[in-house]
Amino acid sequence: MLTSVEIEGQIARLEFVKSHTAKCRRENGIKRYDVLKRKTCACPYYANGVLDQAVGFKRTPTGEITLAKAQDVIRKRIQTGNPKASLAPNAVTIEAATKDYLATVVSKDRTDSTSKKYTTLMDQLVAFCKNKGYASIKSFDQDAMQAFYDAWADPKAAYKEDTKWTKMSNGTRKRSLKTMSLFFERCMRRKWITEDPTLIIEVTAESRKKTREQVKYLTREQMKKVVDALDENYHQMSDYNKTRLKALMLLMRWTGLRISDAVKVKIEDIKGDVLLVVTKKTKAPVQLPIPVEALEMIQKLAPYDGGYLFWNRRSEKSSITTVEHNFGTAISKLFEKAGVKENVRHASHRFRNTFAVHLLTKGVPLETVSLMLTHQNIQTTENYYADYSTGYMDRAEKMIRNVWQLGEGQTL
Ligand SMILES: [Zn+2]
Repeated sequence: MLTSVEIEGQIARLEFVKSHTAKCRRENGIKRYDVLKRKTCACPYYANGVLDQAVGFKRTPTGEITLAKAQDVIRKRIQTGNPKASLAPNAVTIEAATKDYLATVVSKDRTDSTSKKYTTLMDQLVAFCKNKGYASIKSFDQDAMQAFYDAWADPKAAYKEDTKWTKMSNGTRKRSLKTMSLFFERCMRRKWITEDPTLIIEVTAESRKKTREQVKYLTREQMKKVVDALDENYHQMSDYNKTRLKALMLLMRWTGLRISDAVKVKIEDIKGDVLLVVTKKTKAPVQLPIPVEALEMIQKLAPYDGGYLFWNRRSEKSSITTVEHNFGTAISKLFEKAGVKENVRHASHRFRNTFAVHLLTKGVPLETVSLMLTHQNIQTTENYYADYSTGYMDRAEKMIRNVWQLGEGQTL
């Protein structure tokens, strides 16, 4: 046990400086550890110095914004021997703050996946803070947030030891950052903190752009080979099943539907030679003409219960995912037989690519193809097919020429 004189001696050897937030640095034109003259700010104090010869120099966040309280925190830490101790009850611990937040967003049973995501993220925050020595929610500043954010992408981050947490994907990091921001917003409403530390995080999205080589589509010859491979190789398959599989492939090729949507097409979705459906993934409507070749094949089919063309719900174990899987596997095998070999795992997606690439190279605008593919935004379409969007420029040039070719007496 240290005497109070010894404790005060230790505190006297420390330097207490504010660690200014980015906002404060910007507003006051100062550096991170500068002293603010004649003004006060709500930035937290750090204790700098040597507490223990063995530990050496340390810069420790106190989570307090007044000097007196910052010293109290350190005093308490020396007294208790707990390097993470904070002042109770004013300083809310990170663990308490996460519990408070989770109580508002997580449903009681904790079984749904959204609740689980919130809980996991908050568990990670608590583990990270324990590992780094952040005790109070106030002490969790922008630098802490940046370090936490960076650690999400690092499967070997120290706080993840002995856990099953791995590397977060880009999409998950984005979502998690939003959740963190909501969490801090609540802490601000509770007056525990004054600033959302996620504001400094710059999200650097990796380029998702696909090159020409990565977009696998079928040439006219390959398409024919795939369809022919069915008659040449599957002697045991009934004629009706062959027709059905051909109709499905042609439908996907000429409408760009995902296999999950294609297997659910009903006879009533086709009016004349027009397909009218709402896609599952983005809930967007699609209206497309179907070429004669595909339409004739589809018209040979006898609809199942409910008007479904490909989904026989009467047969056993015929859930829609099973149907999708079975057709997907059949198409992959067919691709192999047809000599279209590379990456046949997502074979059915090639019909979709073929649909898009064909239209784009013929000058159909990217915007239109994006709508037909029911992409959530045009950025997705661009990421996949921008390299093929060349025909559009020729078409645009022609359109502009037409506008500029004025008749006599006309002006622009
Ligand atoms: Zn400041």
